[in-house]
Amino acid sequence: MIPCTGMPIKPEITQDVNWQQELASSFTRIQDFLEYVDLSRLYDHSLEHAGRQFSFRVTRHFASLIKKGDPTDPLLLQVLPSAAELQTHPDFSRDPLQDKQAYQGSGILQKYHGRALLISTAACAINCRYCFRRYFPYTSHQAARDKWSAAVEQIQASPHITEIILSGGDPLSLSNARLDDLLTQLQANPRLERLRIHTRLPVVLPDRVDSELLRVLGSVELPLAMVIHVNHPNELSSELHHALQALRGINITLLNQAVLLKGVNDNLEHQVSLCEELYASGVLPYYLHLLDKVAGSMHFEVSKQRARELHQAMAGRLPGYLLPRLVAEIPGSTSKIPV
Ligand SMILES: *Cc1c(COP(=O)(O)O)cnc(C)c1O
Ligand code: SF4
Repeated sequence: MIPCTGMPIKPEITQDVNWQQELASSFTRIQDFLEYVDLSRLYDHSLEHAGRQFSFRVTRHFASLIKKGDPTDPLLLQVLPSAAELQTHPDFSRDPLQDKQAYQGSGILQKYHGRALLISTAACAINCRYCFRRYFPYTSHQAARDKWSAAVEQIQASPHITEIILSGGDPLSLSNARLDDLLTQLQANPRLERLRIHTRLPVVLPDRVDSELLRVLGSVELPLAMVIHVNHPNELSSELHHALQALRGINITLLNQAVLLKGVNDNLEHQVSLCEELYASGVLPYYLHLLDKVAGSMHFEVSKQRARELHQAMAGRLPGYLLPRLVAEIPGSTSKIPV
């Protein structure tokens, strides 16, 4: 990629749509959403019950990518609450990754050498039913409250941290001004060598990548990577493609992480086209995660054996650089573990 200072902004991006308004118009009522996707017949009280354990939320953009009237649509299954979430099993817990133990205060979560997560906000634009942070106690564990100062000071006091990963929630649900403030404060720390943003927002609300965000991210001087989260090729809309092109235009390294989900993407053809189409948009497949065993997500589990077979079949179809690493997160380990 060519480093660029006079940044080429796509015409689509110069006509900013107010993404915050768009976000506010998201579906938050299950009935309205089911009506929109022509599936009102699926409605019943168990869905509301599941939606009370982890609230229902989906953007208009993501909903528009769902095939109307199809109860097996792979995007629908990621967001629609289900009676299956009410099943319990001793292997599926509320804090499967022992995040509470790794929590260091001020929104900082560190498990691995050199890099730490900064829980910058609780908000997501979409609530993914399989999310391992379904029960994360955000109100007491995020960094935004005091305008970042406690988090920034704590990072400064940790000589081993050289990379900060903005996480959440979704860090791009912060306004451009707050994000700018955070990135500026972090960069005053001479020990930091890299910054990273883990986000699903460009995928579920491509208008989030507006010209001001490009300005804010384009002015970051440290190497900046963005790890997006796409599970199925149907999520790769033309709007997302344009947003990704604009992010590439400001020299951001783009990576993808996906979660292997039963009924959604546990299929060779879909995995292969996902990896190929991501690359066509300038994104390298990074991780394919086994499901984290959070309570309420049991129905999404793909066995390790099946995951291995699928991954081997992917290796037989894709060039090495388009093959994501199949990994699991095991509490107490010093990195994600290859399966
Ligand atoms: C996944 C994760 C990271 C990032 O790991 P990489 O292998 O560097 O992508 C960092 N910190 C925590 C706590 C994580 O869970
Ligand atoms: S966007 Fe990410 S953090 Fe937010 S609900 Fe989905 S998986 Fe969880």
